[in-house]
Formats: sequence, structure tokens, C-alpha cells
Amino acid sequence: MNRRTLIKLLAAVAASPVVSRLLAWTVGERLKNWAGNLEYSTGRVYSASSLEQARDYVKRQDRLKVLGSRHCFNDIADSKDSFLSLKAMDQVMALDPAARTVTVAAGITYGQLCPYLDRKGFALHNLASLPHISVAGACSTATHGSGEKNGNLATAVSSLELVTATGEVLNLSRDRDGKIFPGVVVGLGALGAITKLTLDLQPTYTMRQYVYQDLPLGHLKDHFDEIQASGYSVSLFTDWQKQRVNEVWIKSRVEPGRAFKATAEFFGAKAATRNVHPILELSAANCTEQMGVAGPWYERLPHFRMGFMPSAGKELQSEYFVPRANAVDAILAIEKLRDQVSPHLLISEIRTIAADNLWMSPCYEQACVTIHFTWKQEWDAVSRLLPIIERELAPFRPRPHWGKLFTIPRVDLERVYRKMPDFIELSKRYDPQGKFRNEFLKKNIFGS
Ligand SMILES: Cc1cc2nc3c(=O)[nH]c(=O)nc-3n(C[C@H](O)[C@H](O)[C@H](O)COP(=O)(O)OP(=O)(O)OC[C@H]3O[C@@H](n4cnc5c(N)ncnc54)[C@H](O)[C@@H]3O)c2cc1C
Repeated sequence: MNRRTLIKLLAAVAASPVVSRLLAWTVGERLKNWAGNLEYSTGRVYSASSLEQARDYVKRQDRLKVLGSRHCFNDIADSKDSFLSLKAMDQVMALDPAARTVTVAAGITYGQLCPYLDRKGFALHNLASLPHISVAGACSTATHGSGEKNGNLATAVSSLELVTATGEVLNLSRDRDGKIFPGVVVGLGALGAITKLTLDLQPTYTMRQYVYQDLPLGHLKDHFDEIQASGYSVSLFTDWQKQRVNEVWIKSRVEPGRAFKATAEFFGAKAATRNVHPILELSAANCTEQMGVAGPWYERLPHFRMGFMPSAGKELQSEYFVPRANAVDAILAIEKLRDQVSPHLLISEIRTIAADNLWMSPCYEQACVTIHFTWKQEWDAVSRLLPIIERELAPFRPRPHWGKLFTIPRVDLERVYRKMPDFIELSKRYDPQGKFRNEFLKKNIFGS
């Protein structure tokens, strides 16, 4: 056998579902999430490359979780039993220019999808800070970008294919299944395996990104609405020190009537003179182009570039959603904690998101501002800080990001998620035996 044949044979063997599972065991490396702060409770991963394989695997398991691109910081995706990976199912299945929709297999990442859409003349309405995440995993946890008129990424889902616990395949759509569809899209991995999604599109667009540095907190307090309305998507980065926002990132669509008029000063902040990272000390090489250089939407909406490491890497993240109307009060409440927060913080980010109708979305029927924390990987200290932050935000009834670290107890989650009982009922309909239920879901949703 020559070398090329041997390589081909090994590649084919590695791609086979059964062997991928064995390899995960034999290599002996423990399976971890992206940040490395969580070691999953099993390394047993089955990789499906077709709907049939996924169905068959789901049918044969007593308990499992679907694993996306492993970017959650908490144990929402964890399993003690086995994982189904749909990473190999990463194709664009159909583009419908007339309906302005794209249908994708669930393992695709935004980084794979977006350049394709752009080449075909289309775009998504928004993106998260990084394109590396899977579409299905991101939508399942209500992942969001910024922009007060922009809903989270799951709001673009118009239909999906779901393999339920029995292996039944359901095709559900916003139009046909209006009553339950809003309960399915942000499904937290509790309803089954999503194998296909259809997303709303719009014509492609160009954007420019501008960064301003050192915005005085007083100006933020007095002009929060104007600052947030200045671009299509606006992010504020702060370390909560020196009564200022370190960086304001304004992402502006290059369209008549929408373009941001760049000036040297912005509410007391100064225009950056070079590309910067949200954590100023880190290299901006990993970040999307700034300085007002026009470029495609998918290379401006995220902060971080595909092919490069996003954010800081060795980190933890937490994020809280509060009603948009309480934005300034909530920010000032956290600012009071600056001396406790700062020693463990890499950077905080403040964003806005439009209201939606998705039952388990933190923006369910409520426009939100989010206060995000990128922490040093110091879980002991962070786990002591989170209840303090949550207590400070309690008057605003905070909703935590489902994929990040929080300590809000279930009884409080139940109070702020009005549709939780309906979601539990829906989960029981699709998964009566709790095949897709893990410790996270038991603790935070099901209560046992
Ligand atoms: C550096 C970094 C930056 C981030 N930036 C942002 C940001 O800007 N905005 C934001 O909101 N979040 C952000 N996040 C959080 C991230 O978007 C979410 O954690 C998201 O869920 C990641 O998707 P994933 O595919 O990695 O999910 P995983 O962690 O793999 O899984 C998440 C959940 O989705 C379920 N799931 C995955 N695939 C399927 C499927 N096919 N069918 C059914 N269930 C499925 C899993 O079972 C699990 O419950 C960031 C995370 C990192 C690491």
C-alpha cells in the first residue's frame, strides 16, 4: 500500500461515526469546552454525517446531548452518557433567492456560512462577536449581537428539522406551527437534535466600523440612547475603572440615511488612531477591520475574525440581560462594584437587543441591554462575585445568558421566564423520558 492510499484509508476510517467515537476514547485526551474551563463528563462522541445516522443514534441512546462547537462556558451542553456531534453536517442545503431564505445543515458555523451568503448577494441581520460558533448551538442559547433594532440570532430562524427522543423527524415552521414554534427555536438542547435550519436573509450590505476611546461615564449616563442609536450595532467595552467606557465600537451600514458621520470626538471620546482589541493590551490582529474601512457585513459585525482566536482564550464569561429602560441604572449599579469586579475582569461589554417572541429568549417580549463580563479564568473568585452582581441587578429582574456562567437560582429564573411552564410542557411532549435532559437543565429548568 503506498503512502497516499494509506492516508486516504486513515481519513475514511476517521470519518466513520463508530471509529470517531473510539478515537475519542483511545487518544485519551479529555473532551473540554472551547475555553477549557469545563471538562465534559464523558468523551463518548458519535459523529453523524446524515439525518439517518443522527436518528438512528438518538433512537439507540437512553441519554445524550447534542454538542455544537463547544463555546458555552457552563455545563448546558454536558452529558454523563454520550454526545451526538453534527459537525460533519455542515452543508448549505438550499438557497431560495425569491423567499430570501437559506437552509443549512445544523453543524455549519457562521464562519462557514457567511462568505457563501455574501457571494450569492445575501446577508444575515446580525452576528455574535465571533463567527466560529455553530448556527444550531448559537440559536439554541439565544446568542446575540448588538443593535437596538436587531433581534438575537435565533429570530432569523423560520423553520427547523428536529429529531425527537423516539427518532421521529419533525419539520416545524414559523408560519405553520406559530403556536409552538417560538418555544422550539431557543430550545436549550432540551427538545431533541436540530438537524436543519432555515434562516431569513436580506440583500448583502457593506459596513464600516469605528472605534472611540475613553467615553466619560457622565456622558454615557446622559446620552445612552443617542450613543446606542448612533450605529446599526454598538458595543461599549469597559473595565469599570476611571469613570469611563474604554472603547465604543460603532458598526455602521453604508446606506443612504444610515451611515455614521465620523468625527474626531464622540460624546467626549476620541477616535482611535489604529485598530484596537477590546482588551487594549491584546493584539488587534485577531479583530475585524476598524478605522472606517468599508467591508462586507460578515467581516464587520463580529468583533473577531474567523481563522484567528476570538477574545482572550483563557477566560470565563457571564452576561445578564435587563430591560432596556433600566440600562443606565443597571450600568451604574455594576459600576459601584468596580473595586470588587476589576481584579478578576479582562473586560466588560454592554450591548442592546430588540425584543422577540421566543419563549426562552432573555429578550422575550422585552428589549434589553446586556452587561457582559469576560473574566480571568479564576472560578473561585468569580463564583463568589456572581451572586453579588446578581443581587445588585435584582431590582431589574436580570435574565442570564444561557451559555455563560451564572448562579441565579431556578426559582428566580421561573419568575423572569413567564413561558417556562409552557417550555417544560413542550419538552415533555417531545422528550417524555428526559433523554436530552442533563444536570444543567434539571437544575435550572425542570427543577429535578
Ligand atoms: C469567545 C466567545 C465569544 C462569545 N460571544 C458571544 C456573543 O457575542 N454573543 C452571545 O450571545 N454569545 C456569545 N458567546 C456564547 C456562545 O455564542 C454560545 O455559548 C453558543 O451557544 C455557542 O454555540 P455552540 O455551538 O458552541 O454551542 P455548544 O456549547 O456546543 O452547545 C450549546 C447548547 O446548544 C445545544 N445544541 C447545539 N447544537 C444543537 C443541535 N444541533 N440540536 C439541538 N441542540 C443543540 C447543546 O446541546 C447545548 O445545550 C461567546 C462564546 C465565546 C467562547
